[in-house]
Amino acid sequence: MYAERPDNICTNTMSEAAGLTDLHCHSTASDGALAPAELVAHAARSGITRLALTDHDSVDGLPEAARAAAELGIDFVSGVEISVSWQGKVLHVLGLNVDPDHSVLRAGLAQLQQRRSTRAGHIAARLEKLGLSDALARAQAQAAGGQITRTHFARLLVADGRVSDLKQAFKRFLGAGKSGDVRIEWAGLDEAIGWIHAAGGLAVLAHPLSYKFTGAWRTRALAAFKAAGGDGLEVSCGASQKPDEIALCAAEARRHELLASVGSDLHDPAQRWIPYGRLAPLPADLTPVWSRFA
Ligand code: AMP
Ligand code: MN
Ligand code: MN
Ligand code: MN
Repeated sequence: MYAERPDNICTNTMSEAAGLTDLHCHSTASDGALAPAELVAHAARSGITRLALTDHDSVDGLPEAARAAAELGIDFVSGVEISVSWQGKVLHVLGLNVDPDHSVLRAGLAQLQQRRSTRAGHIAARLEKLGLSDALARAQAQAAGGQITRTHFARLLVADGRVSDLKQAFKRFLGAGKSGDVRIEWAGLDEAIGWIHAAGGLAVLAHPLSYKFTGAWRTRALAAFKAAGGDGLEVSCGASQKPDEIALCAAEARRHELLASVGSDLHDPAQRWIPYGRLAPLPADLTPVWSRFA
């Protein structure tokens, strides 16, 4: 086990006096392991002072997280991670500092939730054909009313001993081109950014290096994101990020004139081998997205 609070807490910007920012993580409202209040408590113990909860296509965890954050003195940011279909690929667009009750955002997310639920039935049927018993009912029970994601099916495959870990579950059953990879049409890029802006938030492209794009495709995606009104890019995204990867993301933020964000994409503290909270600081010349929160 690791110590939850690192000794050498670093700040996420060179200029900030104290405290850590994490603007990307998940709770049981989607595929996180911790309930919203538990997640906030874990963040507080880890030295996080500014936190956004960004569940997949859902704002349902935000009220509980906001209440817990208020009690613990954490500066809480209402967020969401919207699934987007673009040019036959999937992008994840974070809405940060949104009004979770805004009707346009709510209506958009409701559509995605409906499609997600339908997709879960298709994924389950395919996995059941491959011998996974009762996949839909067990995924639904596990999600307990939250959004059902491929992560839930991955956990079932691990629980049944079909694979050794989540990574293998994606490699063999759920990742691109595998039988459990059921493609559906998520939100359009303009649509998702429109919902976020309608709800008063800023749109940030999540984990820019995790889409397995070539350089040319990344350039196209970032240009399309900017042209659609995108505001920011996740530049510091996780303890496993290498210095040259941060430099690359920072260069993309400068090139496309995007604000910079910091997000761990935490799903489960038990899955981490590096203490939560240890995210690389943003280069000082970039403008942090949180400096633009109203
Ligand atoms: P979904 O939005 O239902 O398609 O699920 C996507 C989620 O699956 C991501 O947000 C990750 O949490 C998880 N995921 C995708 N690929 C992997 C992987 N290779 N290993 C572990 N988790 C993954
Ligand atoms: Mn996820
Ligand atoms: Mn994502
Ligand atoms: Mn995420």
